[in-house]
Amino acid sequence: MDQFKVTGDRYFCENVDLTKLAKIEGTPAYVYSKSMLRAHCENLLAAFKSYPTQACFAVKALSNLSVLREIFACGLGADLVSGGELERALMAGAPSDKIVFSGVGKQVHEIKRALEANIMMFNIESPYELDMIAQLAESSGKTAAISIRVNPNIDAQTNAKITTGLYSTKFGLAEGDLPELFEAIRRRPSLKLIGLGCHIGSQMLDLNPLRDAARQMAKLCHSVRQLGFDLKHLNMGGGLGIRYRNEDPPSVSDYAAALIKEVKPTGLSLIIEPGRSLVGNIGVLLTRVINVKKTPDRHFVVVDAAMNDLVRPTLYESYHSIENVADNLTTGVPSLCDIVGPICESGDYLGKDRMIPLPSPGDLLMVRGCGAYAASMASQYNSRPRAPELLVSGTNYQVARKRESLQSLWAEELANLD
Ligand SMILES: *Cc1c(COP(=O)(O)O)cnc(C)c1O
Repeated sequence: MDQFKVTGDRYFCENVDLTKLAKIEGTPAYVYSKSMLRAHCENLLAAFKSYPTQACFAVKALSNLSVLREIFACGLGADLVSGGELERALMAGAPSDKIVFSGVGKQVHEIKRALEANIMMFNIESPYELDMIAQLAESSGKTAAISIRVNPNIDAQTNAKITTGLYSTKFGLAEGDLPELFEAIRRRPSLKLIGLGCHIGSQMLDLNPLRDAARQMAKLCHSVRQLGFDLKHLNMGGGLGIRYRNEDPPSVSDYAAALIKEVKPTGLSLIIEPGRSLVGNIGVLLTRVINVKKTPDRHFVVVDAAMNDLVRPTLYESYHSIENVADNLTTGVPSLCDIVGPICESGDYLGKDRMIPLPSPGDLLMVRGCGAYAASMASQYNSRPRAPELLVSGTNYQVARKRESLQSLWAEELANLD
């Protein structure tokens, strides 16, 4: 199923030669495989087929319109965390009745727009937000369907920066704070509580925390129904991990089986919000070696991609496997290398302490696992235009996002330049 493969001595994405692609489109560039994307969506839907489930893609993982369009065409909805993502989702054809709006800081203009678009529901993360949504719904004569994001205080056993289900994080509401919220909901006829949810973390490699969370949530749903709320959905968020190096993530079918087993007794429909597991491995970042320099300690392979194109190593100390796509693969002497970008930060690296055949200037490298949280987290730091996103299908590809021009970096500054 991996569509990034070596045939003969050449690297391909599906049937597109990556060396040729890099020559035509330049580097750095993100390359995505459409057939992998489709296969991931179809596998996911198949795994949950036996139970009423709505999968809502976490748009923040990969927000490119062409990619989103494929995902929505497969029948998925969208999980959003901003008004910008709402506009993207709508533009890419997400049906509004499959859109859930999460996030700890929804703003007035975002809520208004989501009400106007008649989204499926808001995932409530604070009492203040509950009031805001109630008021805005009232003044526009609408009813807002809501779900409460619960913080189950469960450790997802993942990187601290992507764990989201502990009381020490800003997300969701503790069970003990719910009774007050229920009172507020009863007082507000413009609100309709239709679900509960949680999202305890990302890149989870163990199903047990998720199982515990689902069990706890199912129990909670039971008591909330006894209070008279007509719940319809239980939202278990996203978070399924993928292989970046040698991880052994649960299969999609084990993941589905674990969730369904816990949720089934409630009879509620299941909502899931997958991000990384759908798109993480459908993409690579192509980058070219600018130069190689030796220090007393090691070699530094300086490439034309940097932390502004892929911030995960810097931000989470994440590992991304890096392969040399050049045809002289075997000629380099195995050496201890850091693969670094040109940005003026010591934290600017794509790979650290790699024992690899020493690349030469001009070599093309492929950084794997760059479908999720790569392009969507890119910045223009050091006035570097953002790289293009290329969506490959068979022997063809489409430029799903053009490389940014230098002019676009300062276009919004020119108007007020004295
Ligand atoms: C980020 C996020 C997700 C997706 O997480 P993945 O680990 O990419 O699957 C799902 N739900 C919410 C609320 C999120 O913030």
